[in-house]
Amino acid sequence: MIVAIDGPAGSGKSTVALVLARRLGFRYLDTGAMYRALAWLARRDGVEPEDGDALARLAREHPVSCDADGRVAVAGEDVTAGIREAEIDRLVPVVARHPQVREVMRERQRALGAAGDAVIEGRDIGSVVAPDAEVKVFLVAHEAERARRRTAERPGVRADALAEDLRTRDERDAVNTQPAEDAVLLDTTELTVDDVVARIAALVEERRA
Ligand code: C5P
Repeated sequence: MIVAIDGPAGSGKSTVALVLARRLGFRYLDTGAMYRALAWLARRDGVEPEDGDALARLAREHPVSCDADGRVAVAGEDVTAGIREAEIDRLVPVVARHPQVREVMRERQRALGAAGDAVIEGRDIGSVVAPDAEVKVFLVAHEAERARRRTAERPGVRADALAEDLRTRDERDAVNTQPAEDAVLLDTTELTVDDVVARIAALVEERRA
């Protein structure tokens, strides 16, 4: 079974998807981490963020690996912490918007999804990567709450700068952040992680029944 969890930055996807995957005994696939790792690699190797062909080549040469604990590696380096820097937050939507890059990533995400039960989180999973996913959820949250969560995750970066980054990222990501028509919309503003996990787990149970 595939559980697709989509939504914008700060909607709670990553935390919820990881906890849910553990609870269900499913694999966890963080597609945002794949795009982030590519942005990290492009910065390290001096590849222009505007050069879609070069980025697609880089993505093809260096598959990103994510383990069950959410550790991310690319080109032999552990980039788990490095890909969460504010500079990567800004760079990744530029890298992710090239169709050539998305083609490489989506192909890989489909192959990983085809290997069995998985919780896959991203922006376009229920709509494009796995349109046949048995459970599709689109998470949303009020902007102020999303900015507050991001501030807690990025200590040392000013809250107003992070809120501005979030707005810019929303605009850049809008074209690739599409709720599937049959996704269940869940507003997480007032919910705890456990609440959200319980609701999605209930959808999984319904589907199994
Ligand atoms: O979810 P996360 O904030 O880690 O995603 C980082 C970036 O990766 C997003 O801002 C977006 O530009 C890109 N992304 C994407 N499609 C996905 C997942 C992430 O374009 N399925």
